[in-house]
Parts: sequence; structure tokens; C-alpha cells
Amino acid sequence: MGYGIETRCIHGEKNEVMEHSYGAVSIPIYQTATFAHPGIGETTGHNYTRESNPTREELEKTISSLEGAFDTVACSTGMAAISLCLEVFDSGAHIVCTDDLYGGSVRIFGVIGERRGLQFSYVDTSDAAQVEEAIKENTKALYIETPSNPTMKVTDLSAMKELAQKHGLLLIVDNTFLSPYLQNPLELGADIVVHSGTKFLGGHNDTLAGFLSTSRQDIAERVRALYKTVGSCLSPFDSFLILRGLKTLAVRVERQQSNAGKLASWLKQHPKVKQVYYVGLPEHPGFEVNCKQSRGAGSMLSFRVDAEETARGVLERVKLISYAESLGGVESLITYPMLQTHGDVPVEIREKLGITETFLRLSVGIENVEDLIADLEQALG
Ligand SMILES: *Cc1c(COP(=O)(O)O)cnc(C)c1O
Repeated sequence: MGYGIETRCIHGEKNEVMEHSYGAVSIPIYQTATFAHPGIGETTGHNYTRESNPTREELEKTISSLEGAFDTVACSTGMAAISLCLEVFDSGAHIVCTDDLYGGSVRIFGVIGERRGLQFSYVDTSDAAQVEEAIKENTKALYIETPSNPTMKVTDLSAMKELAQKHGLLLIVDNTFLSPYLQNPLELGADIVVHSGTKFLGGHNDTLAGFLSTSRQDIAERVRALYKTVGSCLSPFDSFLILRGLKTLAVRVERQQSNAGKLASWLKQHPKVKQVYYVGLPEHPGFEVNCKQSRGAGSMLSFRVDAEETARGVLERVKLISYAESLGGVESLITYPMLQTHGDVPVEIREKLGITETFLRLSVGIENVEDLIADLEQALG
């Protein structure tokens, strides 16, 4: 019997975790670039920190335990992990993606991926028929975010797995929005999971990190070789900070989710709020699929207000909630996707997705929920 996920956030698999010197309960920060060899052709297990480092290794093993992965590499940012993911493909490969992916992913696919000879199609992956229609002879992978950012569309991962198997594709999932505490795509058949560790995993809006986890040994070997070659690695100190954040992942996410549920219900009845996009609301079109494939709805929600003036007023008047990019941390943050995360997206596509001047995205933190409601109440005016 393995440990429960709350325990694994703190202890990993334990049997794999090394005993620390002097009985230290938390792992030391091995702030060293290189490791001396005990003899000719011998190694302590670590040679050079770009390749591996004990602090980072403990973090990688903990994430592998949480995601049920064969192997995980810890990268300097989420984007570094996503860029490593592109390296798995040869020129000419075509990838079908969720249409409202994280803006940075769209940028890296367009700017770097396409120059490397990769091709991308963007479709509404919450509709499996559209995904199948987009698959071509040279399609090599499906790249999914569920729930999506910022319109919270839910994609059925089992249906994606079936399509991937039928057409011989890799299934890649960006699991940042729910975190491994709520959703484990590898266990549902995905081949690769990527994370922005900057968000829920670190959880304190203070450290950048990224992860690429895989269930497959062949992909793990390829990724490890690329990782040490290109140098995408997370520093020992930042590895320590993410490990420290992870210890409270379970309690943070529970509290954030409970706050988000209450805020979603409160927003729904506010006269200036026209629509609330939260996967935990039973009327959300993805509610049932999300229940089937995850353990919760998380703490990301978006809402549409009655006028641009109201939306701008909220951003200017919030006091407790910060008007800032990023998500998943203990502090609640609100963003204006039209200008920020989706600022680079062409107007027609943005409007089609519903990312307009009245649309706001909220990442709910762990504050007292009544204080958050009071802040939004005064900000909505
Ligand atoms: C933030 C984010 C990323 C990028 O991660 P960084 O750590 O900022 O590089 C990728 N995907 C999603 C869904 C994100 O929210």
C-alpha cells in the first residue's frame, strides 16, 4: 500500500528519499556546481549540477510520486519545460492543441516551434469530433489543457487517450491548473505531463519553476539527454523552495477550492456579474467530465461583468486582491486576460473565445473568504 497523496506531498515515496546528514528533517540545499570524484572513473552519483543535484533530485522524485510518473525533470520555468517538450519532436511533426492554451505556450509554438519545422492546429478540444477532424497524416501529438485558460473549458482526457491510441499520437497535458493533488493525467493514459511549478506547486508567488513528467522510459531517456545538454535545470535553492511549498500543497488547494466555490456562488448572484466560469458549478458544461477525471474543481475562475467600465473599476479598486499575472499561490490575484495573458492573440480569435473587455480571471488564494467577498463587493461598485 502506498501513502496517500497528502503524505506524499511531504515525504515523497519515503523509501526512495535519502536519509539526510545529522537527521535533518528537510533536505539541505546542495549549493554546489560540481562534485568531486572519489577515484578515477568513480562518482558519488552526482557529477555536475546541470546534469543532477541531490536537492533537485529529491524534488523530481517527489513530483514523480505525485503524478505517478516514471521520471520527472525539474526546469527553471514552466516555459523551459514546455520548450523541452517540443524537442521530443522532429521537424515536420504536426500537433493538435487546445484553442485557448496559456498565451506563452501559443507564443513558443509559433515563434520557436514553427521555425523548427513543427506545425500546430488549435481546436476546441472539449469536442472530441473537432480533434479527430484536425488529425492529419503527420500528426504526432495532442497537447491539452483542462480546464483551459482562461475560459475553463474541460477536455475529456479518456476520449483524448482513445484518439491518441487510434492514431498513434502522444498525449501531452499541461496540468498546471488543477495540480497533481486534483488530477493525474498520466494515470488516465497521458504520455507527458508539464507543469508551471511557479503556480500551485510552489504556491507562494515567490519562485519560478517547471516540470516535465513522463510515464514512458523511452521518452524519459530522450528528455534527460536533452535536459542536461540544453541546461534547462532548476537551481538547488529554487528546488528547495518548491519542495517547501509542496509540503502544504494538499491543505492549500483544499482551502483555495473551498474559497473558490463560495466566491463563484456569490459572484453568480451579483447584479453586475453576467456569467461565472467555474468548473465546480453544476451548470458548467464540463462539470461532469471534470468530476469523472479529477478530484476537484480547483480555484481558478473567470467572470464576465456588465460593462468594460465595471471590469476596469474592479482592477483599479481591489485592495486585498492584487491585480497581477500568475495564479495558484496563497495570495488571490485578478487579471485582465484581454490585455495580459492574451494580449498577443489576434482580436478575432480572442472574441471568438469570449476574451473581451468585460472578462476577468481570478486565482483564489487562502485568505478569509468573507474578506475576499467584501473586497470584490466594494470593487464591483
Ligand atoms: C504560467 C503557466 C505556464 C508557464 O509557466 P512559467 O513558470 O511562467 O514559465 C504554462 N502553462 C500554464 C497553464 C501556466 O499557467
